[in-house]
Amino acid sequence: MVRVWILCLLLLSGLSQALELNGELTQGSLLRGKLQPGSQVWLNDNALQISDNGWFVFGFGRDASLTHTISWQLPEDDERQTREIELSEREYDIQFIEGLEPNMVTPPEEVLARIRQDNAQVAQARRTNDQREDFTSDFIWPADGPISGVYGSQRVLNGEPRRPHFGVDVAGPTGTPVYAPADGVVTLWVPDMYYSGGTMIIDHGLGVSSTFLHLSKGHVEQGQSVTQGQLVAEIGATGRATGPHLDWRINWFNERLDPALLVPPRD
Ligand SMILES: [Zn+2]
Repeated sequence: MVRVWILCLLLLSGLSQALELNGELTQGSLLRGKLQPGSQVWLNDNALQISDNGWFVFGFGRDASLTHTISWQLPEDDERQTREIELSEREYDIQFIEGLEPNMVTPPEEVLARIRQDNAQVAQARRTNDQREDFTSDFIWPADGPISGVYGSQRVLNGEPRRPHFGVDVAGPTGTPVYAPADGVVTLWVPDMYYSGGTMIIDHGLGVSSTFLHLSKGHVEQGQSVTQGQLVAEIGATGRATGPHLDWRINWFNERLDPALLVPPRD
């Protein structure tokens, strides 16, 4: 599936194009860039990794500040170029969810250790720092179905405010196929996490990962390489879910990003 990237060219004064960024300049966005191989690049003075072919990536969280600087230095140059990046500010929905089991809203003491273990496993998978460049491709939607939840919405569960929703929810009956949205490696598959139920993480390289929650079934194993469009799992309602749906998340390491910005619009 081809998507026209929103192309943002930051041009050096002079003739040569120095740095190219693909992505929307807004909160929750993943930005992918390319420089001449051997270049260096910094976001707000923090060095970013750059692949052998000159690819790099970074992302801005839900409430990221709106002004950032990007600097780069080409292999033959002895000075850094610096540009400011200005992000647009987003408005997020408020979502009220009623009828959850009380112990899913406020977990009982005895499951806290399990929740901590789940969180540690997810955090470890998201720390994966692999030099692959799978994140550079155009992503595809991992499942068919209507959108039932969007990124960033503030959640109020049984009347109690909780942290925002960081995924995009695709509604579909249990058993609906879930496909890899881009090439990658399965870095986590746990069928029964407390909150997120069947949970799978696919790493796309340089810290970019997809997470799928509430799955009823996995079709791949941890450590397995997958290709875009490959059947990897099935939609379910496992964990804290009021009905069957796929909750798809995109991360750049710990930074939680909006998957919907990477794929063609859908209602
Ligand atoms: Zn969700």
